[in-house]
Amino acid sequence: MDIGGTSVRAGVVDRYGTVLDTARAPTPTSEGALEDAIVSAVGVLATRHRVTGVGLAVAGFVTTDRRSVMFAPHLAWRNAAVADRISVRLDLPVVLEHDANAAVLAEHRFGAARGSRVALLVAIGTGIGGGLLLDGTLFRGAFGVAPELGHLSLVPSGRPCPCGKSGCWERYCSGTALATTAVELLARHPGRSTVLRREVAVDKRSVTGRKVAAAARDGDPLAQRAMAELATWLGEGLALVADVYDPEIVVIAGGVSESAPLFLDDARDHYKRTITGAGYRPLARIRTAQLGDDAALVGAAALAADGLR
Ligand SMILES: [Zn+2]
Repeated sequence: MDIGGTSVRAGVVDRYGTVLDTARAPTPTSEGALEDAIVSAVGVLATRHRVTGVGLAVAGFVTTDRRSVMFAPHLAWRNAAVADRISVRLDLPVVLEHDANAAVLAEHRFGAARGSRVALLVAIGTGIGGGLLLDGTLFRGAFGVAPELGHLSLVPSGRPCPCGKSGCWERYCSGTALATTAVELLARHPGRSTVLRREVAVDKRSVTGRKVAAAARDGDPLAQRAMAELATWLGEGLALVADVYDPEIVVIAGGVSESAPLFLDDARDHYKRTITGAGYRPLARIRTAQLGDDAALVGAAALAADGLR
Protein backbone atom coordinates (compact mmCIF):
# COMPACT_ATOMS: atom_id res chain seq x y z
CA MET A 1 0.00 0.00 0.00
CA ASP A 2 1.01 3.56 -0.60
CA ILE A 3 -0.08 5.81 2.28
CA GLY A 4 0.11 9.42 1.13
CA GLY A 5 -1.26 12.68 2.45
CA THR A 6 -4.22 12.71 0.06
CA SER A 7 -4.95 9.08 -0.71
CA VAL A 8 -4.42 5.56 0.49
CA ARG A 9 -3.76 3.15 -2.41
CA ALA A 10 -3.67 -0.59 -2.13
CA GLY A 11 -2.49 -2.97 -4.82
CA VAL A 12 -2.10 -6.70 -5.19
CA VAL A 13 1.44 -7.25 -6.49
CA ASP A 14 2.87 -10.53 -7.73
CA ARG A 15 6.50 -11.63 -7.38
CA TYR A 16 7.42 -10.01 -10.73
CA GLY A 17 6.33 -6.57 -9.57
CA THR A 18 3.12 -6.61 -11.60
CA VAL A 19 0.14 -4.84 -10.06
CA LEU A 20 -2.83 -7.18 -10.51
CA ASP A 21 -5.60 -5.24 -8.79
CA THR A 22 -5.97 -1.94 -6.91
CA ALA A 23 -8.20 -0.13 -4.42
CA ARG A 24 -8.07 3.51 -3.38
CA ALA A 25 -9.58 5.68 -0.64
CA PRO A 26 -9.05 9.27 0.55
CA THR A 27 -6.63 9.51 3.52
CA PRO A 28 -8.59 9.93 6.78
CA THR A 29 -7.25 12.53 9.21
CA SER A 30 -7.39 10.56 12.48
CA GLU A 31 -5.06 7.72 13.41
CA GLY A 32 -7.89 5.24 14.06
CA ALA A 33 -9.74 6.02 10.83
CA LEU A 34 -6.51 5.77 8.84
CA GLU A 35 -5.80 2.29 10.20
CA ASP A 36 -9.44 1.29 9.58
CA ALA A 37 -9.05 2.42 5.95
CA ILE A 38 -5.90 0.31 5.54
CA VAL A 39 -7.51 -2.77 7.06
CA SER A 40 -10.63 -2.36 4.95
CA ALA A 41 -8.69 -1.86 1.66
CA VAL A 42 -6.68 -5.05 2.31
CA GLY A 43 -9.92 -6.81 3.23
CA VAL A 44 -11.53 -5.86 -0.08
CA LEU A 45 -8.56 -7.07 -2.14
CA ALA A 46 -8.22 -10.23 -0.06
CA THR A 47 -11.70 -11.32 -1.16
CA ARG A 48 -10.41 -11.48 -4.76
CA HIS A 49 -6.77 -12.61 -4.22
CA ARG A 50 -4.72 -14.70 -1.82
CA VAL A 51 -2.79 -12.06 0.15
CA THR A 52 0.24 -13.40 2.07
CA GLY A 53 1.81 -10.21 3.45
CA VAL A 54 1.36 -6.46 3.54
CA GLY A 55 3.91 -3.71 2.87
CA LEU A 56 3.05 -0.11 3.71
CA ALA A 57 4.95 2.70 1.94
CA VAL A 58 4.55 5.75 4.16
CA ALA A 59 5.21 9.41 3.41
CA GLY A 60 7.18 9.89 6.63
CA PHE A 61 10.03 8.73 8.87
CA VAL A 62 10.01 4.99 9.60
CA THR A 63 12.14 3.34 12.32
CA THR A 64 15.07 1.16 11.15
CA ASP A 65 13.25 -2.02 12.23
CA ARG A 66 10.41 -1.02 9.82
CA ARG A 67 7.78 -1.44 12.56
CA SER A 68 6.89 2.14 13.57
CA VAL A 69 6.24 5.53 12.03
CA MET A 70 8.20 8.22 13.90
CA PHE A 71 6.81 11.25 12.13
CA ALA A 72 4.78 11.92 9.01
CA PRO A 73 4.00 15.58 8.29
CA HIS A 74 0.72 14.90 6.45
CA LEU A 75 -0.47 11.84 8.40
CA ALA A 76 -1.82 11.38 11.95
CA TRP A 77 0.90 8.97 13.12
CA ARG A 78 3.46 10.16 15.73
CA ASN A 79 5.77 7.47 17.16
CA ALA A 80 3.10 4.91 16.27
CA ALA A 81 3.59 1.13 16.29
CA VAL A 82 1.70 0.82 13.01
CA ALA A 83 3.05 -2.50 11.72
CA ASP A 84 2.17 -4.47 14.86
CA ARG A 85 -1.29 -2.94 15.19
CA ILE A 86 -2.23 -3.61 11.55
CA SER A 87 -0.65 -7.07 11.67
CA VAL A 88 -2.82 -8.11 14.64
CA ARG A 89 -5.98 -6.86 12.92
CA LEU A 90 -5.26 -8.55 9.58
CA ASP A 91 -3.51 -11.63 10.94
CA LEU A 92 -0.84 -11.09 8.28
CA PRO A 93 2.84 -10.04 8.43
CA VAL A 94 3.16 -6.26 7.92
CA VAL A 95 6.27 -4.23 7.10
CA LEU A 96 6.71 -0.43 6.74
CA GLU A 97 9.05 1.63 4.59
CA HIS A 98 9.45 5.29 3.68
CA ASP A 99 7.70 5.83 0.33
CA ALA A 100 10.73 7.07 -1.62
CA ASN A 101 12.83 4.19 -0.23
CA ALA A 102 10.18 1.74 -1.37
CA ALA A 103 10.08 3.42 -4.78
CA VAL A 104 13.85 3.23 -5.35
CA LEU A 105 13.78 -0.42 -4.33
CA ALA A 106 11.04 -1.12 -6.89
CA GLU A 107 12.81 0.80 -9.67
CA HIS A 108 15.98 -1.17 -8.87
CA ARG A 109 14.25 -4.54 -9.01
CA PHE A 110 11.78 -3.99 -11.81
CA GLY A 111 12.31 -0.57 -13.43
CA ALA A 112 14.71 2.17 -14.55
CA ALA A 113 17.53 1.40 -12.07
CA ARG A 114 17.82 -2.33 -12.82
CA GLY A 115 21.40 -3.58 -12.65
CA SER A 116 22.82 -0.41 -11.09
CA ARG A 117 25.02 -0.41 -7.97
CA VAL A 118 24.45 3.15 -6.77
CA ALA A 119 21.00 4.52 -7.56
CA LEU A 120 19.33 7.71 -6.40
CA LEU A 121 15.61 8.34 -6.73
CA VAL A 122 14.29 11.88 -6.53
CA ALA A 123 10.51 12.04 -6.28
CA ILE A 124 9.28 15.50 -7.25
CA GLY A 125 5.70 16.25 -6.27
CA THR A 126 4.34 18.67 -3.68
CA GLY A 127 7.85 18.53 -2.24
CA ILE A 128 10.94 16.37 -2.88
CA GLY A 129 11.41 12.85 -1.56
CA GLY A 130 14.67 10.93 -1.89
CA GLY A 131 15.68 7.28 -1.89
CA LEU A 132 19.19 5.90 -2.19
CA LEU A 133 20.63 2.45 -2.91
CA LEU A 134 24.31 1.86 -2.20
CA ASP A 135 25.70 -1.41 -3.57
CA GLY A 136 22.12 -2.50 -4.17
CA THR A 137 21.11 -1.98 -0.51
CA LEU A 138 18.81 0.75 0.79
CA PHE A 139 20.77 3.45 2.58
CA ARG A 140 18.56 4.60 5.46
CA GLY A 141 21.10 6.34 7.69
CA ALA A 142 21.72 5.47 11.35
CA PHE A 143 18.15 6.27 12.46
CA GLY A 144 16.16 5.58 9.32
CA VAL A 145 15.58 9.13 8.07
CA ALA A 146 18.17 9.47 5.29
CA PRO A 147 18.26 10.79 2.63
CA GLU A 148 16.10 13.84 3.35
CA LEU A 149 16.89 15.82 0.21
CA GLY A 150 14.02 18.28 -0.07
CA HIS A 151 15.27 20.55 2.68
CA LEU A 152 18.88 20.89 1.60
CA SER A 153 19.51 24.62 1.67
CA LEU A 154 20.21 25.66 -1.90
CA VAL A 155 19.52 29.39 -1.83
CA PRO A 156 20.87 31.44 1.10
CA SER A 157 18.03 33.62 2.46
CA GLY A 158 15.76 32.17 -0.22
CA ARG A 159 12.06 31.36 -0.19
CA PRO A 160 10.73 30.52 3.30
CA CYS A 161 9.88 26.85 3.86
CA PRO A 162 7.22 25.35 6.20
CA CYS A 163 10.09 23.32 7.76
CA GLY A 164 11.32 26.55 9.37
CA LYS A 165 14.38 27.08 7.18
CA SER A 166 14.62 29.08 3.99
CA GLY A 167 15.95 28.40 0.49
CA CYS A 168 15.21 24.65 0.65
CA TRP A 169 15.60 22.69 -2.60
CA GLU A 170 11.90 21.80 -2.76
CA ARG A 171 10.94 25.50 -2.56
CA TYR A 172 12.53 25.79 -6.05
CA CYS A 173 12.05 22.33 -7.52
CA SER A 174 8.57 20.85 -7.00
CA GLY A 175 5.00 21.25 -8.20
CA THR A 176 4.49 23.85 -5.48
CA ALA A 177 7.64 25.69 -6.59
CA LEU A 178 6.42 25.79 -10.20
CA ALA A 179 3.33 27.68 -9.07
CA THR A 180 5.37 30.06 -6.85
CA THR A 181 7.81 30.79 -9.69
CA ALA A 182 4.97 31.44 -12.15
CA VAL A 183 3.27 33.89 -9.77
CA GLU A 184 6.62 35.69 -9.18
CA LEU A 185 7.29 35.91 -12.92
CA LEU A 186 3.81 37.35 -13.53
CA ALA A 187 4.46 40.06 -10.94
CA ARG A 188 7.83 40.87 -12.49
CA HIS A 189 6.51 41.03 -16.08
CA PRO A 190 3.15 42.77 -15.70
CA GLY A 191 2.73 43.47 -19.43
CA ARG A 192 3.13 39.89 -20.58
CA SER A 193 -0.14 38.27 -21.58
CA THR A 194 -0.44 34.63 -20.65
CA VAL A 195 -3.03 32.00 -19.77
CA LEU A 196 -1.70 32.07 -16.23
CA ARG A 197 -2.45 35.78 -15.78
CA ARG A 198 -6.18 35.09 -16.13
CA GLU A 199 -5.79 32.36 -13.54
CA VAL A 200 -4.02 34.68 -11.07
CA ALA A 201 -6.61 37.41 -11.64
CA VAL A 202 -9.24 35.04 -10.24
CA ASP A 203 -7.20 33.75 -7.30
CA LYS A 204 -3.43 33.59 -6.79
CA ARG A 205 -3.78 30.23 -5.07
CA SER A 206 -5.58 28.74 -8.05
CA VAL A 207 -2.26 28.49 -9.93
CA THR A 208 -0.92 24.97 -9.43
CA GLY A 209 2.15 23.16 -10.70
CA ARG A 210 -0.10 21.05 -12.89
CA LYS A 211 -1.62 24.16 -14.52
CA VAL A 212 1.81 25.69 -15.11
CA ALA A 213 2.99 22.45 -16.74
CA ALA A 214 -0.12 22.33 -18.95
CA ALA A 215 0.40 25.97 -20.00
CA ALA A 216 4.07 25.26 -20.78
CA ARG A 217 3.02 22.32 -22.92
CA ASP A 218 0.66 24.66 -24.82
CA GLY A 219 3.58 26.99 -25.56
CA ASP A 220 2.91 29.68 -22.94
CA PRO A 221 6.28 31.53 -22.70
CA LEU A 222 5.94 32.48 -19.05
CA ALA A 223 5.06 28.93 -18.01
CA GLN A 224 8.00 27.69 -20.07
CA ARG A 225 10.25 30.10 -18.23
CA ALA A 226 8.98 28.74 -14.88
CA MET A 227 9.72 25.24 -16.19
CA ALA A 228 13.25 26.31 -17.21
CA GLU A 229 13.86 27.64 -13.69
CA LEU A 230 12.73 24.32 -12.22
CA ALA A 231 15.14 22.55 -14.60
CA THR A 232 18.02 24.75 -13.43
CA TRP A 233 17.31 24.05 -9.77
CA LEU A 234 16.90 20.34 -10.44
CA GLY A 235 20.31 20.22 -12.13
CA GLU A 236 21.85 22.33 -9.37
CA GLY A 237 20.49 20.14 -6.57
CA LEU A 238 21.38 16.89 -8.32
CA ALA A 239 24.96 18.09 -8.80
CA LEU A 240 25.18 18.78 -5.07
CA VAL A 241 23.78 15.35 -4.10
CA ALA A 242 25.94 13.62 -6.74
CA ASP A 243 29.05 15.17 -5.22
CA VAL A 244 28.21 13.29 -2.02
CA TYR A 245 27.01 9.93 -3.39
CA ASP A 246 28.36 9.75 -6.97
CA PRO A 247 25.34 7.79 -8.27
CA GLU A 248 25.35 5.68 -11.39
CA ILE A 249 21.73 6.49 -12.15
CA VAL A 250 19.28 9.12 -10.98
CA VAL A 251 15.61 8.21 -11.33
CA ILE A 252 13.20 11.14 -11.44
CA ALA A 253 9.80 10.13 -10.08
CA GLY A 254 6.71 11.82 -8.63
CA GLY A 255 3.88 13.80 -10.23
CA VAL A 256 6.16 16.44 -11.78
CA SER A 257 8.10 13.72 -13.64
CA GLU A 258 5.07 13.33 -15.92
CA SER A 259 6.17 16.65 -17.46
CA ALA A 260 9.79 15.50 -17.88
CA PRO A 261 9.93 16.31 -21.63
CA LEU A 262 9.50 19.98 -20.61
CA PHE A 263 12.52 20.12 -18.26
CA LEU A 264 14.69 17.00 -18.16
CA ASP A 265 17.12 17.87 -20.99
CA ASP A 266 17.71 21.33 -19.49
CA ALA A 267 18.22 19.79 -16.05
CA ARG A 268 20.78 17.32 -17.47
CA ASP A 269 22.68 20.19 -19.16
CA HIS A 270 22.77 22.20 -15.97
CA TYR A 271 23.83 19.15 -13.96
CA LYS A 272 26.69 18.47 -16.40
CA ARG A 273 27.92 22.04 -16.18
CA THR A 274 27.56 22.43 -12.40
CA ILE A 275 28.96 19.19 -11.00
CA THR A 276 32.46 19.35 -9.51
CA GLY A 277 35.07 18.24 -12.05
CA ALA A 278 32.61 18.83 -14.90
CA GLY A 279 33.94 17.31 -18.11
CA TYR A 280 36.46 15.07 -16.38
CA ARG A 281 34.32 12.46 -14.62
CA PRO A 282 31.71 9.89 -15.64
CA LEU A 283 28.20 11.19 -15.06
CA ALA A 284 25.07 9.54 -13.75
CA ARG A 285 22.32 8.75 -16.25
CA ILE A 286 19.25 10.80 -15.38
CA ARG A 287 16.03 9.00 -16.29
CA THR A 288 12.36 9.08 -15.43
CA ALA A 289 10.82 6.32 -13.32
CA GLN A 290 9.39 3.34 -15.17
CA LEU A 291 6.84 2.21 -12.60
CA GLY A 292 5.20 5.63 -12.33
CA ASP A 293 2.65 6.01 -9.59
CA ASP A 294 2.95 2.35 -8.58
CA ALA A 295 6.64 2.41 -7.60
CA ALA A 296 6.20 2.89 -3.82
CA LEU A 297 3.41 0.35 -3.67
CA VAL A 298 5.40 -2.25 -5.63
CA GLY A 299 8.51 -1.66 -3.48
CA ALA A 300 6.53 -2.07 -0.26
CA ALA A 301 5.05 -5.32 -1.58
CA ALA A 302 8.50 -6.57 -2.56
CA LEU A 303 9.74 -5.89 1.00
CA ALA A 304 6.76 -7.75 2.43
CA ALA A 305 7.53 -10.68 0.11
CA ASP A 306 11.22 -10.65 1.18
CA GLY A 307 10.08 -11.02 4.78
CA LEU A 308 8.15 -14.17 3.90
CA ARG A 309 11.14 -16.00 2.45
ZN1 LIG B 1 12.52 23.18 4.14
